[in-house]
Amino acid sequence: MIAQSSQTFPGATMTPEGLRYKGVLFFPVIEKCAGCSRIREFGEHSYCSSYAAPVAKWSLGDCNFATHVRAAQASQARVNPLKASKRAAKGGR
Ligand code: SF4
Repeated sequence: MIAQSSQTFPGATMTPEGLRYKGVLFFPVIEKCAGCSRIREFGEHSYCSSYAAPVAKWSLGDCNFATHVRAAQASQARVNPLKASKRAAKGGR
């Protein structure tokens, strides 16, 4: 679910250069941001509530604030089979 802009960017204005909020220019999110819970809509575009320039944030690798990437990585966490069997033998999970 995407939150509404009025609460995220109060007083923001759309300029020919981009969304101006508190003196900072915000640029629309990119394709890699799809699924992130920090995305907010303003007008016809979607923006990040944490970073003004999502494309720059992703240029050096995964965005460290991306909620969808963190969730995907957590589900892929490896389980050491030796430790898992010891835990199971002790009655743990
Ligand atoms: S936190 Fe990162 S992934 Fe999420 S919308 Fe912002 S730039 Fe995109």
